[in-house]
Amino acid sequence: MVNLILFGPPGSGKGTQAKKLVEKYGLLHISTGDLFRYEMGNDTPLGKKAKSFIEKGELVPDEVTIGMLRNKVEANPEVPGYIFDGFPRTIAQSQVLDELMNEKNTSISTLLMLEVPDVEIINRILERGKTSGRADDLDENIIQNRIDVYKNETTPVFDYYEAQQKADKIDGVGSIEEIFDRLSTKVEERM
Ligand code: ADP
Repeated sequence: MVNLILFGPPGSGKGTQAKKLVEKYGLLHISTGDLFRYEMGNDTPLGKKAKSFIEKGELVPDEVTIGMLRNKVEANPEVPGYIFDGFPRTIAQSQVLDELMNEKNTSISTLLMLEVPDVEIINRILERGKTSGRADDLDENIIQNRIDVYKNETTPVFDYYEAQQKADKIDGVGSIEEIFDRLSTKVEERM
């Protein structure tokens, strides 16, 4: 199996690149952001719980996020591998993910971090907000909070996988195809 973590700040292009990686390598894409939006769209108890955090640009508590992720992985056992997008965002989530992979006799192959400067991120998200229908994409204060949360709470996840020699940095500025080529090269090194 090849199991990837697509990592990087909000608006760094994880979702766009994940779709292309799915086409190329046949992996299952699991985006916690998409899962939360599905739950919120259906107004489920989980969606209601997540909404108050997401609309402030804060992380949803680990117990909520981890349970949802575990269900999704366990519902899809027979896949050639997973692409985790937006997960893990905390060390606790990383530890659970490693355990989960271990239970399946596999492991994370690599974490790929897309690096994009803050100004570019803010512009991309504001642009996306015009069509995405996402309330958290429309307000510059919420966007800035998501960037701050990424820097303060989520970047330790990079160090956690770097300590396992499993973390790579990728220049996230350029055309979609250029960035995809950079990612594919790294994926194939780890296959
Ligand atoms: P972004 O474009 O900001 O990376 P996502 O679509 O991945 O956004 O996630 C949207 C929101 O969902 C996040 O700002 C956060 O509130 C919540 N969220 C997504 N994944 C996680 C996670 N792994 N842990 C906690 N909260 C999460």
